[in-house]
Amino acid sequence: MIDVPSIFGIDVFNEQVMKERLDKDTYDALKATIKNGESLDINIANCVAKAMKEWAIEKGCTHYTHWFQPMTGITAEKHDSFLTPTDDGKVIMDFSGKALAKGESDASSFPNGGIRATFEARGYTAWDPTSYAFIKDSSLYIPTAFMSYTGEVLDKKTPLLRSMDRVSSEAVRILKLFGKTDVTRVTASVGAEQEYFLIDRKMYDRRKDLKYTGRTLFGARATKGQELEDHYFGAIKNRVSQFMKELDEQLWRLGIYSKTKHNEVAPAQHELAPIYTTTNIATDQNQLTMETMKTIARKHGMSCLLHEKPFANVNGSGKHNNWSLNTNTGENLLKPGKKPEENTQFLLFLAAVIKAVDEHQDLLRISVATAGNDHRLGSSEAPPAIISMHLGDDLEAIVDAIINNEDYESHGRVLFTTGVESMPDFKKDTSDRNRTSPFAFTGNKFEFRSLGSSISISCPNIMLNTIVADTLSQFADKLENAHDFDSACRSLIRKTFKAHRRIIFNGDGYTEDWVKEAEKRGLLNLKNTPDALEHFVDKKNIELFTRNHIYGETEVRARYEILLENYSKVIAIEAQTMINMAKKDIFPAVSKFTGELANTIVTKKAVSQAIKTDAEEALLKNMSELLSRFASLTDILEKNLSDADNHKSDPLTLAKYYRDFVLTSMNELREIGDMMETDMSTQHWPYPSYGDMLYSVQ
Ligand code: ADP
Ligand code: MG
Repeated sequence: MIDVPSIFGIDVFNEQVMKERLDKDTYDALKATIKNGESLDINIANCVAKAMKEWAIEKGCTHYTHWFQPMTGITAEKHDSFLTPTDDGKVIMDFSGKALAKGESDASSFPNGGIRATFEARGYTAWDPTSYAFIKDSSLYIPTAFMSYTGEVLDKKTPLLRSMDRVSSEAVRILKLFGKTDVTRVTASVGAEQEYFLIDRKMYDRRKDLKYTGRTLFGARATKGQELEDHYFGAIKNRVSQFMKELDEQLWRLGIYSKTKHNEVAPAQHELAPIYTTTNIATDQNQLTMETMKTIARKHGMSCLLHEKPFANVNGSGKHNNWSLNTNTGENLLKPGKKPEENTQFLLFLAAVIKAVDEHQDLLRISVATAGNDHRLGSSEAPPAIISMHLGDDLEAIVDAIINNEDYESHGRVLFTTGVESMPDFKKDTSDRNRTSPFAFTGNKFEFRSLGSSISISCPNIMLNTIVADTLSQFADKLENAHDFDSACRSLIRKTFKAHRRIIFNGDGYTEDWVKEAEKRGLLNLKNTPDALEHFVDKKNIELFTRNHIYGETEVRARYEILLENYSKVIAIEAQTMINMAKKDIFPAVSKFTGELANTIVTKKAVSQAIKTDAEEALLKNMSELLSRFASLTDILEKNLSDADNHKSDPLTLAKYYRDFVLTSMNELREIGDMMETDMSTQHWPYPSYGDMLYSVQ
């Protein structure tokens, strides 16, 4: 039995530890930094460093690391020991405020989008005191930001912190107008639901495609997929349950509020949801969660697949980003209350989010654009690539009543009668679930559902915070100068709802009708990563980021390049892996199989011409034709891949080339490969099948 309260946060330098180990002044100064984002004095940093070091050493640490989030999308760490030589040839364990606050790292080997020439490779890591330090594998981990010698941001944390500050300042400005002068900080909070697959390690090890690319590049459908819908919320298998227990324990030790776990739609697919926290901490914790999932799966003889689409023809994995704004006085600004139609403050914040999402559909789409996620968005399992908002019937009716200047008649919440005497009746939620909506209002928060399972949640939240901050800022400019605040506010809400009504859609997002309707409404439909990323450097966006001090123009362009290059590289690696599999494993296997068929035919006929060989002959003919087609498609893929060198004039052209030529020929090759797998004997096929993998964990 795990005693959860006693292990929760045991490996974290959290509130409780700080209170115990820091003197009051130091503690207060550090708290002020954490709560209000004030900057920290070096003397305070020295005291904190000393306390951290002592705590870490007592818990068996020998090293510390500045833990940061470069543009690779995963975390990076470089470990230094506390060891410091003394004059008498001995050593002491030392850790200064300076070492805590700032580290130096080689920046040249991380993606930087041409910002930094490699000869000036210095990069700095700076402590982020708003996310707690923690212990892992005998090292003290210090969450940090990462920037270049010249001050350009090279990571995913700094802009996130900036965007949190921006949305806070602007929300505070608005709240002042509502008389809430005691609000000094508004925090953007996030709960990120994480989907993943678990398969047996032995199967994984035999799949080059999973190992090198995270997804299967070949693989015929399993005889049973998710048709029966028997996996979703189904009983959790013993091995998986053991994994989940250990995962929870590890996450709890790291102070991560892992709360909900269940099976997902596809076989072998599962989900974990933590309790929400600040955007910054949620981002750090989601990175740690993904890493811990992989490590613990390995310990249990399994492999955790975080790719968006590990298997064709069954659902892929996403990540739901539940987002809300909360004041330091404990108010959730997205909580509608009992009578939302009369709650002007709520309606104003709602209007801000609606306007922000409508005006910056492109940025939200860009924030989830990766080669992996392209396999999900718009394919009837994840939200469509078109960004729209779902408000639920009640809220949509309120919006429409306001637009039309009509009175809104609230029908109150409908009571559900269970019809069973011993069971209580319950009230219906005001917003029903609409699984197809990319951006849904779910009671007191917005749920952005387009994220892929493997990405850092940083970028989507940078976008969300920034676009909402920018809109609130425009609102505040107007309202601060109004003679009559109440009527100005009401008229602003109405005007905003009216202008941005087109983004609200409560229907089924999977239908072809919606695609047409969305086009009529003038909504963007950015179907794939290159099409989406192209808009990153639009004038509107560069102005938005510079106006809000999130990125300078160089930084926007650098990110644009990094993301595009990443897209091309991912596809290049996939293509290379496919060619390898095709030539080294699949071709020889099919050739051997057909050779054996031919021998069988000859042998049978040698015994007697009367023995029938028509079945073998038909199969031999069919497989030989497929194999010949397979070989020529392999050649075409190889040629298209090597031709990529001729399209390197700029990263967008290259990405489009990969999409139109390399990805297309990969799909053609796969189709033939999967046809051969379907018709071939199990014994001859060189890889574990979909059935083997999806039902490998019992
Ligand atoms: P589901 O989306 O499956 O209905 P829940 O309603 O339990 O699940 O919420 C999912 C996630 O939303 C959890 O991580 C939860 O902590 C988070 N969440 C709940 N309320 C808020 C909020 N006000 N702000 C941000 N996240 C929230
Ligand atoms: Mg959800």
